[in-house]
Amino acid sequence: MDYTDGIPYDPKTMRVKECPRCHNSQFQDNSLFCRICGLELYNICIGNEERDNWGNPIYSNQHKNPSNARFCEICGKPTVYNIRGILPCWNDYIPAEKTDS
Ligand SMILES: [Zn+2]
Ligand SMILES: [Zn+2]
Repeated sequence: MDYTDGIPYDPKTMRVKECPRCHNSQFQDNSLFCRICGLELYNICIGNEERDNWGNPIYSNQHKNPSNARFCEICGKPTVYNIRGILPCWNDYIPAEKTDS
C-alpha cells in the first residue's frame, strides 16, 4: 500500500512544495526552512549529532528523503518530519477511503 500523507514535493530536489505545518508556499530558490514557522523544507534524517568545542550540536550525514518518510532510506534514522510530529506513526496511519462502492 502507499502512504499518501506526505506533502507534495519536487522529486528532483526533494524539497516540499508547501510547508506541511503552516501551509506557507512562498519560498525562495535556496530556502532551507519555512520563513513562517521555521520548519525544515527538506525531510532530512537526524544524521549524526556531535558537539563542537563550545557544546553546540553539529549534525552530519543527513540525507534528504521523500516527504512521507518516517525513517531515512539510507541510514535508518528518524526523519525531521517524524520527530516533529508532522507525520503520524505508521501504525496510526489511516488509509484514504476508497470512493468506489
Ligand atoms: Zn511553515
Ligand atoms: Zn540518513
